[in-house]
Amino acid sequence: MNTYICETCGTQFAPSDAPPAACPICEDDRQYVGWNGQRWTTPEALASQHTLRTGEDEGLFAISMGGGFGIPQRMLLLPTPAGNLLWECVSLVTTEAVLKLRERGGVDRIVISHPHFYSSMARWSEALGDVPIMLHAADKAWVQHRSRNLEFWRGDVLPLGSGVTLVRTGGHFPGSTALHWAGGVRGQGALFVGDSPQVSTNRRGVSFMYSYPNYIPMRTSDVREMQARLEPFEYEDVYGYSWGRNIIGGGRAAVKASFERFFAAQAG
Ligand SMILES: [Zn+2]
Ligand SMILES: [Zn+2]
Repeated sequence: MNTYICETCGTQFAPSDAPPAACPICEDDRQYVGWNGQRWTTPEALASQHTLRTGEDEGLFAISMGGGFGIPQRMLLLPTPAGNLLWECVSLVTTEAVLKLRERGGVDRIVISHPHFYSSMARWSEALGDVPIMLHAADKAWVQHRSRNLEFWRGDVLPLGSGVTLVRTGGHFPGSTALHWAGGVRGQGALFVGDSPQVSTNRRGVSFMYSYPNYIPMRTSDVREMQARLEPFEYEDVYGYSWGRNIIGGGRAAVKASFERFFAAQAG
């Protein structure tokens, strides 16, 4: 038995004797199967071929795959008044990275924006002391590796207390989630987004796509709902899904302008 990991999206699957027949995440319209066909790796092979990159990203401790594997998301340790939150997740778990998180006060819970970043969440949770993993219930069907530590939340807004709130932004996946931290590193509010919305490469705005790799736009009605749900929140900084992909300062204005640009384009 092994817990196979898809080489293209980095998702770890439930234990099985042989690699799964297919990866539903990659076969979905929002992702893609690698051009050389479906490939699988194992935690052992991954650990022998890859390392984790750790360091600071705009004032927050960050961990990502060393490069060249899966989707390049990075996880962030958010030392919030509502506890130490691990935002997003990656495919490789190492003792060294777990120790670095423990040195920084450990992790109270893992929160993940959407299924593309579920990666090795079950193993990370176990390695950190069986911490809860918070996912939106609308995306439950995309979980490939069940864990006793999964906690599914429902609705559009979930206050975690002390100025930390989960917001269902939807659109990319029905349960796509953003995290708002009223304080943030700089004390001016921060919004953490995965792919809904996604921080643009020029870091001057955000975009709204159903699929980023396949260039499929998000439905206008979904973008309108996202705009309404994010409207009440104040923030200066927006942290995107990968290392350095952040808007530091003027984030809320940049998001507002991005919504207006999207609707103007839709209107022709
Ligand atoms: Zn996959
Ligand atoms: Zn995604």
